[in-house]
Amino acid sequence: RAKLQGGGRYLAFNEVMHQSATALIQTKSQLKLAVQREQFELFYQPILNARTLRIVGVEALVRWNHPERGLLAPIEFVGLAEETGTILPLGAWILRTACKQLKSWQDALPGVPVLVSINVSSKQLDDANFFPDLVDLLAEIQVDARSLQIEVTETMLLKDPERVTALFAQIRKIGIRIALDDFGTGYSSLSYLEKYPIDSLKIDKSFVDRLGEGSTKKNIVRMIIDLARDLGLEVFAEGIQNVHQSDALMEYGCNLVQGYLYSRPIPAGEMLLLLTQGLRGSGNISPSASEPA
Ligand code: C2E
Ligand code: MG
Ligand code: MG
Ligand code: MG
Repeated sequence: RAKLQGGGRYLAFNEVMHQSATALIQTKSQLKLAVQREQFELFYQPILNARTLRIVGVEALVRWNHPERGLLAPIEFVGLAEETGTILPLGAWILRTACKQLKSWQDALPGVPVLVSINVSSKQLDDANFFPDLVDLLAEIQVDARSLQIEVTETMLLKDPERVTALFAQIRKIGIRIALDDFGTGYSSLSYLEKYPIDSLKIDKSFVDRLGEGSTKKNIVRMIIDLARDLGLEVFAEGIQNVHQSDALMEYGCNLVQGYLYSRPIPAGEMLLLLTQGLRGSGNISPSASEPA
């Protein structure tokens, strides 16, 4: 029976392969065009002080406003953009858009300190123009570097240590903070933390997920937080979805939190409303329903 169907399956499989290969090529070229046409949008997810529930910052998260497929999440295209090099113009657009947004929030809400945290691909950091372009951008937009943070992943640390150290030092020297994103998921050893000039860690969601279960894996989170404190680093926790998790994190001394419990990523306009509420000191934001799970 299996043998009889085998031929048909093989053909069907080939066809699927062909279709997906074609779709991939199509997506790649669409992606390139989409950057030229600026068919992207940044959503922003609040970062809160866990105790006061005040918004202290926002993380910029890119979405592709695809003409046929609708709003696409980064998983659908960021890897592809990295493979094809499109991440360079896309990343430049993301930085520019986030900086302009920060500027406009600062103008609308003078005196309100908001940190804008931007994910930067290691492919962007590999580009020799990254730092000089960034300096030019800040000068052009007239935004204070101290209100910016970039999020890098551990893969970055596995590269040429001398170059990375020098680059991070340059970035921090102008006032931009550096956070190590998805901490704990990569292959870098803890000793890397001491070597590199960074400001903070973001504990990956996969560790936060386990906090609700009352399992012994809690200890890992506690350990990361203690370690960070010993090294003088700030700690963010991402992907918090329930109060058990936020309670545990507060108990362990992590006070910067992010997750659906507080708010999903939302468009810039909605973010302005939240920031305005924060200014009035309502200190209590409800989860937004603006982005589906
Ligand atoms: P990330 O930087 O670790 O961002 C956190 C991701 O977790 C975001 O997904 C966010 O929407 C999601 N998230 C936040 N809180 C919760 C929660 O409570 N529950 C769940 N289930 N998810 C939560 P998103 O926006 O789909 O982004 C995925 C990844 O794509 C990011 O992970 C980042 O690595 C990458 N990415 C996003 N925006 C950019 C960008 O502008 N540039 C670059 N290079 N990468 C980006
Ligand atoms: Mg991030
Ligand atoms: Mg992360
Ligand atoms: Mg993550």
